[in-house]
Amino acid sequence: MEQNENFRRVVVKIGTSTLTYPSGKLNIRRIETLVRVLSDMRNAGREVVLVSSGAVSAGTSRLGLEITDRTTEEKQALAAVGQCEIMRLYERLFANYGHTVGQILVTKDVVDDENRLKLAKSTFATLIGFGCIPIVNENDSVSYEGIKFGGNDTLSAYVAMICDADLLINLSDIDGLYDSDPRKNKNARLIETVAEINDEIMACAGGVGTNRGTGGMITKLKAAKIATAAGIPMMILNGRDPRILYNVFDGEHAGTYFAVKEKVEA
Ligand code: GLU
Repeated sequence: MEQNENFRRVVVKIGTSTLTYPSGKLNIRRIETLVRVLSDMRNAGREVVLVSSGAVSAGTSRLGLEITDRTTEEKQALAAVGQCEIMRLYERLFANYGHTVGQILVTKDVVDDENRLKLAKSTFATLIGFGCIPIVNENDSVSYEGIKFGGNDTLSAYVAMICDADLLINLSDIDGLYDSDPRKNKNARLIETVAEINDEIMACAGGVGTNRGTGGMITKLKAAKIATAAGIPMMILNGRDPRILYNVFDGEHAGTYFAVKEKVEA
């Protein structure tokens, strides 16, 4: 991994299956640890942006409904409820450590439209300049297929681009990218560094993830492709214990690191 001092502005993405229990209820212990670590990173001088999923899941449990396949309309309504629940918790927990959060909900058309992109960029820059921690999610309640990112893995890569991040970290429910599915093959090997996301690497990604998030390894690799092409390295780490972020910034190796391809001078 490169010198960790270079990673001043860091986007951390955390997925639904890491933030919530299988019942859909928020995993408060994990969220508390995440907030403590991110607050400490901020205190240490890093700029932090959090991309948090979990709105649909939290909304489902808040309304006492079963976690099951829901229609798009239902998910949009559940996200409206769950987003409040999540932000209320983040706001309170970050405030305990003296930090202020700002919520930004985005849809894909923000990155497709030059003017809206410019506005989004300046909002992120201003919020970060105020010393706040932006917390981002897709604006699920008003997104339809045409303007959807299609999951927060993709969204996080665009957020990293919008706020000109130095590093994107994807906190997942798996240790990183394996050369085959570790749930099926006990000899599967963790790939520590990926220099180029080629067909061979894409072939390592199995199917989709849990029934509570929308991602799997494929969407994470696609996100890594978008980020690294924009000059931003990405890591996949196991978010089971968010203190793993300390290891990364202490220079220890963890998870899978997707390097930015060096440009060969002509
Ligand atoms: N935006 C969705 C939510 O907050 C999650 C999307 C994803 O899991 O990638 O529930």
